[in-house]
Amino acid sequence: MNVAKVIIDLSLDKAFDYLIPEELKGQVHIGVQVHVPFGRGKRRGYVLNIVAETDYDKPLKAITSIAERHSRIPVKLLELGRWMAEYYCCSREKAVRALLPSAVRSGKVKHRTLRMFSIIDPEEAEKFVIEHADKKRTAGQLSVLKFLLTSQSVAQEQLMHGAGVKMSPINALLKKNLISEEKRVVRRDPFADITIIRTKPLTPNPEQAQALETICEIIEDHEEKHVVLIHGITSSGKTEVYLQSIARILDMGKEAIVLVPEISLTPQTVQRFRARFGDLVSVLHSRLTERERFDEWSKINDGLVKIVVGARSALFAPFRNLGLIVVDEEHESTYKQSESPRYHARDLAVMRGKIENAVVLLGSATPSFESYYNAKQGKYVLVELFKRVDDCSLPLVKLVDQRLGTSEKGQSNLISKMLIHAIRDRLNAGEQTILFLNRRGYARQMMCDVCGFVAECDSCSIAYTYHKNRESLACHLCGDVIRAYHRCPKCNSEEIRYSGTGTEKIENMAKGIFPQARIARMDSDTMRKASSYEKVLSQFKRGDLDILIGTQMIAKGLHFPNVTLVGVLNADQALYIPDFRSGERTFQLLTQVAGRAGRGDISGEVLVQTYNPENETIKYAVNHDFINFYKYDMEMREMLLYPPDGHLVTVVFRSENLPECRQYALDFMEYVRPLCHKEVIVTEPAPAAIERIKGKYRYMIIFRGKKMQKLQEQLRRMVLRSKPVKGLDVYVDVDAHSLM
Ligand code: ADP
Ligand code: ZN
Ligand code: ZN
Repeated sequence: MNVAKVIIDLSLDKAFDYLIPEELKGQVHIGVQVHVPFGRGKRRGYVLNIVAETDYDKPLKAITSIAERHSRIPVKLLELGRWMAEYYCCSREKAVRALLPSAVRSGKVKHRTLRMFSIIDPEEAEKFVIEHADKKRTAGQLSVLKFLLTSQSVAQEQLMHGAGVKMSPINALLKKNLISEEKRVVRRDPFADITIIRTKPLTPNPEQAQALETICEIIEDHEEKHVVLIHGITSSGKTEVYLQSIARILDMGKEAIVLVPEISLTPQTVQRFRARFGDLVSVLHSRLTERERFDEWSKINDGLVKIVVGARSALFAPFRNLGLIVVDEEHESTYKQSESPRYHARDLAVMRGKIENAVVLLGSATPSFESYYNAKQGKYVLVELFKRVDDCSLPLVKLVDQRLGTSEKGQSNLISKMLIHAIRDRLNAGEQTILFLNRRGYARQMMCDVCGFVAECDSCSIAYTYHKNRESLACHLCGDVIRAYHRCPKCNSEEIRYSGTGTEKIENMAKGIFPQARIARMDSDTMRKASSYEKVLSQFKRGDLDILIGTQMIAKGLHFPNVTLVGVLNADQALYIPDFRSGERTFQLLTQVAGRAGRGDISGEVLVQTYNPENETIKYAVNHDFINFYKYDMEMREMLLYPPDGHLVTVVFRSENLPECRQYALDFMEYVRPLCHKEVIVTEPAPAAIERIKGKYRYMIIFRGKKMQKLQEQLRRMVLRSKPVKGLDVYVDVDAHSLM
């Protein structure tokens, strides 16, 4: 065994052979990071395999040295990486990179500090963007500002890459005091100083006991099936089931990973795990500094912790004796990675479980169709929890038919008469209300009533959103901002109309209707500073606010016992998105939002405003009837071979040059056509639903059907080997979630 197959940080999708020199024998293992000569330089790489002989016909170079004791990847994780590269059609290097935090990979971290940049004052920044829109000299600076306007705090590398600039525009903005830099700050784990009161396992109720029995049988007897889907309504005690399953795994000397969506990774969530298992729990989340991440990773690698709670990437925790993986809220679409490798953390968890012989628990109140389908097919074990632990009934959901005259006198019907009355009742009773609308800004589009002009972003094919407070038009895709028009730029008319209500407008309206009420808004516009989030939440919790208006942000996982009314302002919005998952998303969202009402001893009420009261999806959601909704929606999917009945793979082409993009997509299609199984349905190359993002045109080919594996292999090869014209890129998205 003299030859190591080494993968190097270049996107070549290839392992290179190196000799293992005498002095390193016994130290070079699979997964170890090594230094090797490459070309005229030196590179870092990972040992993927060790073999006796090489097929290479020239003399081999030898490994120079071993890089870091710490950065050894467990063999089974490498196996997962290999599977990920094949299945998700990315290069092996990309897959290996995903397995390790960059802090560990670079090998430099111990003494490295990260420079983090953020906007000081969003309003000032936007003003600058508006005023310098046409000046060439500041193009780099604008690019940096726009990038930062769509994110919170960004590391130097990421910023330079994302904005496509060198350091000079960043430095210029620092000088102008438009952005700030955070350096050498070793931020503490924000969850470290929560006081924790130890908890003991609760006595399971009959449903939980049944669930635990099923799970323990699988854990102990290594049944053939290793995945359990827990379909349990909100507050049915799923988390308690996870906790007790983990305890069983620890007793067996094994380790556990718990994945939660980033947005649910709150102190409260972490606390429940720390309270049960104390220091054995490590937390991985995106706000860790590189150093903290490095430390957490090392703790896991050195066997100091036994449980990891974290978002998506926690799945790659370097445990060596993994017994259990929990994926909470398994239906969440944020588990699907939108950059290469485009993996789905839930599916990858199932795969890691298979490789490591570990049990996988998927939990949700509204399971993904994929998981429910697998359970129905008998691939997964289905466990159902239909009762709330506190025996409190599910909130009463009522539809408000907006087609009827539902407006209060002198008001538009954005907030219906019924809803206004219900809110008044709550205000009088000293109870709280949540109003949900999944669209931020004031209006979705600005339009001229005379000539029909619609204000659209120059670099993306979507309309600007109008923000009234700031009198600006903003693109939510690329971060561009311009001053709002008061006259139509095309025909100079003043007949400007705004349509498509957003949270900002609802806030203004609510303040007019309920002048006495204390009202706050929570969306990514008002929550630009990280501290505002905790601030508003604690105000609301203390009872210092009566009405909370918000987007997605307030739909998930928050517990407020005094909220007795939830108003959903436009239930139909997601239904109109042309995507086969729009029904599923609407159902999930309505269920989640409704779950915010009546979690205390007072029962809750939910008012859902809709223009489609006859819509089946909405009716099922109102009745909390997942099982029949699934049957209903599956019929359509089966007919059209959409997931989960078939697989869905897209190939996306991006370029600033439209004719080149189209031509390349067409040529690609000609090449692929003969490779498709006759049962594969192909949507020929066409512009994506959002044709242009950040200045790039996008073409898409959609494949769906049952027999896709061969095709995936071919697509992978084609995309990784293709060398398209400059400025054009191609990627494959397997099990794509977005058809936009
Ligand atoms: P889910 O995860 O399904 O939303 P949780 O596990 O959070 O539900 O349970 C809801 C609440 O009920 C929690 O406060 C939890 O501590 C409590 N709880 C769960 N199981 C039991 C039990 N067997 N006995 C008493 N309380 C329980
Ligand atoms: Zn006009
Ligand atoms: Zn844009």
